[in-house]
Amino acid sequence: MAAEAAPCTKSSLREDLTCAICCDLFRDPVMLTCMHHFCKLCISRYWRGTQGPVTCPQCRKEFSSKHFQTNYLVAAMVEKVRATTSDTYVKNLEKQVKETLEDHRLKKEDLVNSVRRDKEKMNIIKRVGSDLEARVKGEYRALHQILLDEETCMLEQLRREQEEELEKAQRHLEAAEQALKELEENMEALQQCSAASGSVVLTELPHLRPCTQVDVTPDFDINAFSNKYVAPLGYIAWRRMLKSLKPGPSPLTFDTDTAHPNIHVSRDKTMAVECDVTNHPSHHSKRFLQCVNILAAQGFHSGRHYWEVDVGSSSKWDLGVASEAVDRHARIKLSPENGYWTLRLRKGNEYSAGTQPWTRLQLGSSPQRIGVFLDCDERKVSFYNSDDMSLLYAFTNGPRGKVFPFFSPCISDGRNKPHPIKLLHDLFIPLSA
Ligand SMILES: [Zn+2]
Ligand SMILES: [Zn+2]
Repeated sequence: MAAEAAPCTKSSLREDLTCAICCDLFRDPVMLTCMHHFCKLCISRYWRGTQGPVTCPQCRKEFSSKHFQTNYLVAAMVEKVRATTSDTYVKNLEKQVKETLEDHRLKKEDLVNSVRRDKEKMNIIKRVGSDLEARVKGEYRALHQILLDEETCMLEQLRREQEEELEKAQRHLEAAEQALKELEENMEALQQCSAASGSVVLTELPHLRPCTQVDVTPDFDINAFSNKYVAPLGYIAWRRMLKSLKPGPSPLTFDTDTAHPNIHVSRDKTMAVECDVTNHPSHHSKRFLQCVNILAAQGFHSGRHYWEVDVGSSSKWDLGVASEAVDRHARIKLSPENGYWTLRLRKGNEYSAGTQPWTRLQLGSSPQRIGVFLDCDERKVSFYNSDDMSLLYAFTNGPRGKVFPFFSPCISDGRNKPHPIKLLHDLFIPLSA
């Protein structure tokens, strides 16, 4: 293992660079002809006083003269080993180890926290997911139940009608058979009388039984019977399901007392359009005076409510809900902070949610009918493309307290005819192709 090999190599290197005389790292290492190394001072001392030939203290080889060579390479290696074992070096190293360890400890802490958060997030996703699953299942179970009840009810009705018709036919059959029998008896009597008329003078008609009167063409209309069941069952079921919707669509009307003077409201109060002729309506504290806004007459402070608005092909509008308390006389930015939860269109294709700042929405299509779903209890305001009920945007920081459906046809740019905003009462409108 690398971690174990390092000190071993280092210690053997240190041994290799140790002088056999002083048993310490070489100082000014010199090499003898026999290739053994010693400190310059050590070998000089060792040879001091010797006359004539000298020997290597390590291998005992004899040399005729005191000759050695400085080995710079070994000297450099010794310096390196000495430097890496010096106190400052070791201290530095220890410091570095500590710092790196601390760095790793912090990184580990971050990662541990991140892992914990990921696990928590996964648990939340799982929990929310299974809550939603239960909710979806519950809602569909209720819808299935409606269809199942409808089916059971219709089959029961079919069975009853079939039985009634069969009974009617059976009664008619019995009566006809009875009448037939009576007729045949009378005919027999008459035939006997007729056969005897040759020999006997007829004095009176034979006694005939009164015959039961039976209508020979009973009124059974197979078409009337089948038409009821060969029907657009899907539409029938759809209507019934629509009726069972909770919340059912809220039939809204515009509150003319809130309408800006430049808004014209239709007689039935389901259509509002911007007009350049300023009306001079009665003064009302509920009226919007700065912005071309209008509210519905119906306010909500609890429960769940859904309504649909037809914006047609208008290129600009705002709609949503507004708190009852909004300032009608000031020019205010539409945002939840100011009591407005809105969706808006500008320039024909720029859709935004009325947050602060606006949240631009990338919609694949240009919905002409917008569904608004208000859940007062869960404080949610959601907008749907009511053609396919795809979610456009949802505010989760919805209103507290009473709110009113809010609309603004906006000021038209003068080039185009102002488009009206219509409140839809019948959601059973054929979807646009
Ligand atoms: Zn030495
Ligand atoms: Zn030697």
